Amino acid sequence: MVNALTTNAPSGGIEFHNVLIPDQKDFEVKLKPLYTGICGTDRGEVNGSLSFAYNQPGYNFLVLGHEAVCQVIDATENEYGIKTGDYVVPVVRRPGNCVNCRIGREDNCSDGKKNEAGITGLHGFMRDYFFDSPGNLVKVNDRSMVREAVLTEPAKNVMKAFEVFDTISKRSIYQNEDSTFAGKNCLIIGSGSEAFIYTMMAHEYMFNVYMTNRHTLGESKLSILEKTGSIFFDYTDNVPLKGIDLLIDTSGDPATIFKFVRMMNNNGVTILFGTNGKAPGTQVNGEDIDYIIERNICMVGSVDGAKKHYFDALRYLEKWGHSQNSVINKLITGTYSPENTEIFLTKPEGEIKSIIKW
Ligand code: NAP
Repeated sequence: MVNALTTNAPSGGIEFHNVLIPDQKDFEVKLKPLYTGICGTDRGEVNGSLSFAYNQPGYNFLVLGHEAVCQVIDATENEYGIKTGDYVVPVVRRPGNCVNCRIGREDNCSDGKKNEAGITGLHGFMRDYFFDSPGNLVKVNDRSMVREAVLTEPAKNVMKAFEVFDTISKRSIYQNEDSTFAGKNCLIIGSGSEAFIYTMMAHEYMFNVYMTNRHTLGESKLSILEKTGSIFFDYTDNVPLKGIDLLIDTSGDPATIFKFVRMMNNNGVTILFGTNGKAPGTQVNGEDIDYIIERNICMVGSVDGAKKHYFDALRYLEKWGHSQNSVINKLITGTYSPENTEIFLTKPEGEIKSIIKW
């Protein structure tokens, strides 16, 4: 028996209770979650709006949680060098049998038959302990960053999205004459944790970085954003930039996306990242299509990330965590106990990332 936060996917609900999940002794590593992150996906599962979520076969519940940092409490010798006492981040997606899954790119799964811990058919990490294979674990080397390492999972999505950008921006000469992207504009729609991590990565690429939302931000978020060197604007008020070279959407709102697609520069790239199946539609007319075609604008979806993106994410989190203007620890805006299930139902004011301490 183990204490766990569970839902019944896809209909929803949330309970913190003692459940029976037999120990999987064939796995070589026993893990104790230290912190788990809460995101829109968890809330969607709890309120029953995530129609693609489903329980682990054989169970009438699903343990929630796909963002975690854990301590290894028992490990047998393994080829990955994962040892008892190590801090690790477990990967979320587990491969199916398609060609992408077989080469470690289950983030690009071709037939949808992968599983995602805490989301689709596999128990997640919000429980007192679980067993896993060491090949599914990414070691946190910097022990001063254990709490912040809970951001590895959301950050790996950003690493993958920039890999997608790297691929697409090679269609034409996207860089400046001096080989950099300096002076080019990157706009990020939305102001949640993914958006903040996007701003930091966009600075690594030397973009001028802007963030927008349909309302202004509270003082605390604004001051964090300012420290990253980014500019915020409320787009219902005024739009202070002229053209966009890289547009990243974390809102999933079609009307907002197309408002800004109409401001893209030639050879611009739009990355669709936010998901909101309940957002209302928007009108796209022939002029919009002509605009996109005539400027070689590319719109591309990006989901999840591979194990290598977890390593990249940890490297960047460590770098950002030790930089002078570090805001990494400020992205964690609240730490809660597993008993406080209310946190899944109502987003706290000013939340960037809420986490649960186990
Ligand atoms: P989040 O905290 O819910 O962020 C969503 C942001 O979008 C919020 O700041 C929200 O503003 C903003 N927003 C909503 N409607 C908007 C609009 N019309 N105009 C401007 N901003 C708007 O979630 P997150 O954890 O950062 O994740 C961002 C999105 O990515 C979510 O949709 C999530 O499901 C998705 N996601 C995708 C992947 C992937 O691999 N593609 C992975 C993880 C998450 P308010 O807070 O003010 O409402």
